[in-house]
Amino acid sequence: MTRLLQYLMVFFVFLAACSPRSEGPAEPVEPSGTLTFIHLNDTYRIDAVEEGRAGGFGRVVTIVRRLQQQGNDVRILHGGDFLFPSLESQLWQGEQIVDAFNFMDDIAPMYVVPGNHEFDRRSPEAVINAIRLSEFDWLGDNVRLLTGDEIIDQSMQTGFVLEAGGKKIGIFALTIHQDDGGNDRDYAPIDRDYVGIAEASIKRLEAENVDAIIGLTHLHLWTDKEIAKLKASHPRFLFIAGGHEHEPQHEAATEESAEIVKGASNARTIWQIDVSFPEDDGIPEIVTKRIKLDESVATDADYEILESRWRRKLLEKIPFLPARIGTAAVPLDAREVTIRNEESSWANFIVDQMRSAFGEPAADFAFVNSGTLRIDDYIAEDITFEDVGRTFGFSSYLRHLVLSGSDFKTVMEAGYRGVGPSKGYFPQISGFRVCVDRSQPDGGRIIQLQLPVESGWDDIEPDADYLVVAPDFLYRGGDGYDFSRARDVSRPGSELKYLVLDAIIRAQSAGQTIGEPVNPDDPRIAFVQEGRQTCFE
Ligand SMILES: [Zn+2]
Repeated sequence: MTRLLQYLMVFFVFLAACSPRSEGPAEPVEPSGTLTFIHLNDTYRIDAVEEGRAGGFGRVVTIVRRLQQQGNDVRILHGGDFLFPSLESQLWQGEQIVDAFNFMDDIAPMYVVPGNHEFDRRSPEAVINAIRLSEFDWLGDNVRLLTGDEIIDQSMQTGFVLEAGGKKIGIFALTIHQDDGGNDRDYAPIDRDYVGIAEASIKRLEAENVDAIIGLTHLHLWTDKEIAKLKASHPRFLFIAGGHEHEPQHEAATEESAEIVKGASNARTIWQIDVSFPEDDGIPEIVTKRIKLDESVATDADYEILESRWRRKLLEKIPFLPARIGTAAVPLDAREVTIRNEESSWANFIVDQMRSAFGEPAADFAFVNSGTLRIDDYIAEDITFEDVGRTFGFSSYLRHLVLSGSDFKTVMEAGYRGVGPSKGYFPQISGFRVCVDRSQPDGGRIIQLQLPVESGWDDIEPDADYLVVAPDFLYRGGDGYDFSRARDVSRPGSELKYLVLDAIIRAQSAGQTIGEPVNPDDPRIAFVQEGRQTCFE
């Protein structure tokens, strides 16, 4: 043995001894034999959210290690949306998330389906780079990659089968089509026949004699519910682990329907699914458990090293990120659970800037899809560059246009369609107030749409013309909004991020604080309460 080799061996033994493990396995344990899936979806941050108190991969790793210590055979599922959008993704095109996923895959094998945000970029470079760096598996039964790079294109796997403890588990994976809010790219065509493709994949997996079948999806809940019905004729189809909704979803299994689970964005809530196989080769059973990742779950110490490495890189690129640019008058609520479901104090401030984006006269109305506002956190006391940077995961240019009162109301209906919470198309509004009845059919849910008048509030005039400011993304049909009846449409201009920065800095210079609490007695957005017809008298 050479001296160098001896030295290296000592060094590695030393490293192994020092390696910080928050909960490293001390003794090899007798495997419990339980196959456990940990499911997460819609994760944009490599660190935790809500001022570090919720979510984050560091807490996911702790849960995985804990289960492994009990002897469980753990696999990680991800229901899509991770490369974009985020502050870091604007610098590294999602490489930071791939690094985090590789870390988790090292601990327990990981399988992901791409969501709409993996295809945010019009050209394929980001996806090619991400797949090239990925050590985990990409699954997609209804998406083909046509990047021109053969190895990359073949990395999107269909009819995937994994083996665990002598059992074969088949996974079919489906992602969302552009007609439902996905991104249609030449390099990633997506087939919309979700149920048809699911059934074809299930039949192929059955022909391979798999013991259990799982759906890994990034679709609206109502589509997942349709797919889940395939269990009636395919009893080994056990559950769907999904994404796209940003708050937890659970549809219990029945004889005719597979169970559906979805977590909260940024791993604030994840799912544990234990699969047990009967002796007689019968239908496996599952037990699902919702796990809230809050301060009661420690962050894995090894993962923290990765996290702080990316933090250092971020601060090298943007050293002024922590600098204070303004002061919040009250803790401003910019969490997704708020911003995608109800009026938000941070969004009110933002959308109020939009009406004057094109000078005088200010527009009558403005609105923004809540999916544009990505920070998923509180903004309290100091407002920093980072708060603004994290709020806008992508550029949002605005348009100024004219709509009749009745056309404006029709446009706004798109914001309240569908079932399930936390839709990115849910609008944050300024210059008007709205009363929504979710029990009504799509397209007829706005019960009142009122604007301020001298004596209080009045209904919008169907035939009058109104000046409106809205994001170019929505004007072009994004998120299902239809502006085809708009007139006098401006070019896209006035980037929302800079408008907000400017307003904060102006307020700070004038010695003013930012924002005010949402007033429950005078809401902009209200929902019809049970047994009532309207929200506003
Ligand atoms: Zn999505």
